[in-house]
Amino acid sequence: MSDLDAPGDSQWDKKKPKKDGPQFPFGGPSQPGSPLGGWKFTIGYVLILIIGMSLFNYVFLNKVNPTIDFSEFKTKIISGEIKRVELSDSYYTGYTAETRTQPLPLTRRYSGSQEEAFRTVPINDENFVKLMDEKGVAYYAVSREGSTVLNLIFSWVLPIAFFIFIWRFFIKRLGNMGGNVLAVGQNKAVIVAEGDIATRFKDVAGVDEAKEELVEVVDFLKNPKKYTDIGGKIPKGVLLVGPPGTGKTLLARAVAGEAAVSFFRMSGADFVEMFVGVGAARVRDLFKQARDKAPCIIFIDELDAIGKSRINTIAGSNDEREQTLNQLLVEMDGFDATSGLIILAATNRPDVLDPALLRPGRFDRQVLVDRPDLKGREEILKIHSRDVKLSPQVDLSVVSRITSGFSGADLANIVNEAALLAVRAGRKLVEQQDFDEAIEKTVAGLQKKTRVLKPEERRLTAYHETGHALVAALTPNADPVQKISIIPRGFALGYTLQMPVEDRYTVTQSDLLGKIDILLGGRVAEEMITGEFSTGAASDLTKATDIARKMITDYGMSGRFKNVALTSRGVPGGEHQEPLFQREYSEATQQYIDEEIAHVVEQRYAMVKAMLTEKKALLDKVSAVLLEKETLDEKEFKRLLAGAA
Ligand code: ADP
Ligand code: ZN
Ligand code: MG
Repeated sequence: MSDLDAPGDSQWDKKKPKKDGPQFPFGGPSQPGSPLGGWKFTIGYVLILIIGMSLFNYVFLNKVNPTIDFSEFKTKIISGEIKRVELSDSYYTGYTAETRTQPLPLTRRYSGSQEEAFRTVPINDENFVKLMDEKGVAYYAVSREGSTVLNLIFSWVLPIAFFIFIWRFFIKRLGNMGGNVLAVGQNKAVIVAEGDIATRFKDVAGVDEAKEELVEVVDFLKNPKKYTDIGGKIPKGVLLVGPPGTGKTLLARAVAGEAAVSFFRMSGADFVEMFVGVGAARVRDLFKQARDKAPCIIFIDELDAIGKSRINTIAGSNDEREQTLNQLLVEMDGFDATSGLIILAATNRPDVLDPALLRPGRFDRQVLVDRPDLKGREEILKIHSRDVKLSPQVDLSVVSRITSGFSGADLANIVNEAALLAVRAGRKLVEQQDFDEAIEKTVAGLQKKTRVLKPEERRLTAYHETGHALVAALTPNADPVQKISIIPRGFALGYTLQMPVEDRYTVTQSDLLGKIDILLGGRVAEEMITGEFSTGAASDLTKATDIARKMITDYGMSGRFKNVALTSRGVPGGEHQEPLFQREYSEATQQYIDEEIAHVVEQRYAMVKAMLTEKKALLDKVSAVLLEKETLDEKEFKRLLAGAA
């Protein structure tokens, strides 16, 4: 399949790279090989424990009674404030009440409102006992701090218990955040038992091609024997590729629901941990559980979180992710296709995936889940307004018409928003105006992401794509047009797909010129209706120029340098730099190449313009239909061409 527009077509809405996980307060990055992240980590905990225990002692045991001077203590006895004294080895404690009030465990010596207590460190004073006798103070000796058992409990056992509790709490938090220290690799997959999944294919609309492919997967799960008996191989991994909110997760659930099998869902981010080895252990565990439950589906959402190419990472390697990825690869190789285990994964960045993931036996099937077209949108709106009370005036096809570029999730949101607006306005039924308002709200947000085109842009895009398609149809030997669309995709406002009839290894000069023509067709069509150039054709021009240059420099197809290769040699560009290219021909030749490129492109442009001007009626007609329907498949396009002929 060749795609004429934007080279970055598969780079849907780039996500911000995720941080590599939370940082632990102690110690630097976790040490490879150690699940606890190295000795710094351990020291951190010991420190907390020691500091915490001293604090505990201080707060609960020592600070209980104000300590006063011995002379002050005596004064308080003389003044009659202290009525009772406990004598122990190391200090005396004086109380303001004669009899002991109810002893409270933790604050034994300080019962707050009932009595006050003062502690003092005694000085050897033989008159002290006499003084107490005189004042009628009750005194008695206690062994140190009362009960040693209680003391032991309060000063040691409780604090330790307390900190074990805190520690475990911490660990649990860490576990939730990702790093699981005690139970390394414990799984977070939500296991949904058989039949629990209520989602069916009828709940998904607008992605008919994807549904068609997945129907087969359901059949694999239901009747594996049918395929294995004949010697066929059941696919192991199916990758759902598409922009966010187009129903990838929904489709995966529908497959499990239709096949009535268990469904394990995990997000790629769940596997990426801060401790090396944890993610890998999770993968192992997930597959183990799944094998026990087979037939079942494992769904890995956001596969790119673990599956990022190991080659392209700028910030060096990431041990944890690499190990996790390796484990995933190993597990995928490790199970037998007949075991009834199928792995579905979803991503909106197929371009960053590690090539190893896409090899045969792994995610070798890719299913495109694209934004819905006019008809698809209407169906999605119908699905989501099943339980919404609509006024008979509401026409969902009108709503669908003005929501070009919206994803399934956007549409579900609009229905909900419209219902809320109706409630707010005190209506019993949702009216068309509620939908209009809901759409307006959403459009503003989406326009920032350039997903919603203005009417004039859409018209221009329709002409542009039709231009490509018509030139392709009129060029002998060109690959047939498979699909034309004005639904934005990535950076491209629309796209025209051509399907090669056969693999070609050698391409002739006329094929190459034909390719240039098709690429120029878009801009020619635009120019014909607006009379000026737009930026919409930039990537087409890059590609066309590239082909023209290669024809001259590499393929020896140009007038002056027929059968001569004008090569450039890559020379190392120094550390961390791309190789530089050094041409192996003269400056004069370079000038000739530049001029020749311009000449070829200009010539072809004029030719294409003549071709399309002659077919202006057809151009108008096809682009009008495209504008209306948003996508045209091969059959519809051919019918339009035949109708004109
Ligand atoms: P993705 O996983 O592709 O980001 P989701 O499957 O999570 O998208 O879609 C989010 C919600 O949007 C779904 O739960 C569903 O309500 C709605 N939705 C998205 N696409 C569709 C669709 N094709 N048909 C019906 N509903 C859809
Ligand atoms: Zn184009
Ligand atoms: Mg999803």
